[in-house]
Amino acid sequence: MAKQALIIFVNIISISAFLARKYYKRNGYLMSDKVVKFGGSSLADADQFRKVAAIIKADPKRKYVVPSAPGKRFSDDVKVTDMLYKCCELAGGGVDFSDDLAMIKERYNGIISGLGMDMSLDDEFDTIAKELKARPAKDYAASRGEYLNGKVLAKYLGYNFVDAADVIVFDTKGRLLLDQTVDAVRSKVNGLENAVIPGFYGRTTEGIIKTFSRGGSDVTGSIIANAVRAEIYENWTDVSGFLVADPRIVDHPDVIETITYRELRELAYMGASVLHEDAIFPVRSAGIPINIRNTNAPQDPGTMIVSNDYDFSRESLSHTITGIAGRKGFSTINIEKAMMNNEIGFCLKVMQVLYNNGLSFEHMPSGIDTMSITLDSAQFEPVRDKVIAEIRREVEPDHIEVEDGIATIAVVGRRMKNTRGTVARIFAAMAHARINVKLIDQGSSELNVIIGVSEADFAEAIRRIYDMFINSEK
Ligand code: ASP
Repeated sequence: MAKQALIIFVNIISISAFLARKYYKRNGYLMSDKVVKFGGSSLADADQFRKVAAIIKADPKRKYVVPSAPGKRFSDDVKVTDMLYKCCELAGGGVDFSDDLAMIKERYNGIISGLGMDMSLDDEFDTIAKELKARPAKDYAASRGEYLNGKVLAKYLGYNFVDAADVIVFDTKGRLLLDQTVDAVRSKVNGLENAVIPGFYGRTTEGIIKTFSRGGSDVTGSIIANAVRAEIYENWTDVSGFLVADPRIVDHPDVIETITYRELRELAYMGASVLHEDAIFPVRSAGIPINIRNTNAPQDPGTMIVSNDYDFSRESLSHTITGIAGRKGFSTINIEKAMMNNEIGFCLKVMQVLYNNGLSFEHMPSGIDTMSITLDSAQFEPVRDKVIAEIRREVEPDHIEVEDGIATIAVVGRRMKNTRGTVARIFAAMAHARINVKLIDQGSSELNVIIGVSEADFAEAIRRIYDMFINSEK
């Protein structure tokens, strides 16, 4: 009986996969296509453009390309997006912005001539100048960075150009309309061999150009990947993937080979960032993995961001933990009261005070007669005295104190769940380093263990955890 059910189940799965493939094929997009997004530093000058073209041409599946605007060529350089914001600000104040716009044109002309192309952006720049004089809108101005880079890249690659304004749809409040966007992308790219679709912007249903927040080309790439049901969303940047720990703290940390969306969220929340937060949902909901790659080191496999059902046996490295991240700037309110555990509603009253003062908290470990609440110091500071006075009034504690200068460190890893001794190893590492652990929190999913230490111990604690789990497991 069970065997029969299994056979039927397997058949249903295979038939659905077959029908889905047929449907996608018939509609012009194959599930084996790749969407490739290139960040600003990958397209900052002609040399970078050449690298990008070589990457795209190396794999015929790389059919849909999402470019950012030209980014920094060196550390003190200015991103084209920032130059455009400046033009808009000048235009808004009625100040002449022609020199600033001319500098932007120079950036593009440098790329065009560096690539030996015959292309003029004169008309485009005339339109931008006129539009900014008439209606200096910030989002329109910023969007031109991606728009023009898309034009140049499409011509250089010999690819079709699809204006993001025609496919990325926002409502009048500027919220993305995903279903309408997916339909628009499909109807535009259907039948096209390839397409360059600029990142970062779209258009509202009222016809106004609107951008995502900064770094938003990542989001465009993710949406396009969803719409064409890509096999993979490759996000090309200037690092070879997510690092296990912050390289400013740990010397040359390893690259994370595979990370799940949930692990990534935990690490990103704690401060690790390579990808725009909103870039996760569109691909995650469609079960499409993201591969973070390095334009300057295309041979590196980068980091795969996958869902929980990914076949992890393909991984070559498998440390117990996936990553370590942390944040400074927390305060802890410690409350003590004899017989606290018998007092019904004690916690509720304290929470009510936080709620009334618009505070959210990070952690709340408690003992029989104690509870402590960890919260963001910057949020807490303006209402600190008021909150303490209100807690005193509401619950009449025996003792209440605030400790500042707390850092929290998250040790994240999907494998912790099946591995004994992880927490013991974290504490052994802290004990050997003589670091006092002020707080412990393990999420019920066993995906992370969070410890709180004093800010002075922050960097050393991360290095010791890295040694314990990464260096010693090599
Ligand atoms: N060019 C925009 C920015 O600098 C968007 C992006 O690069 O993703 O934020």
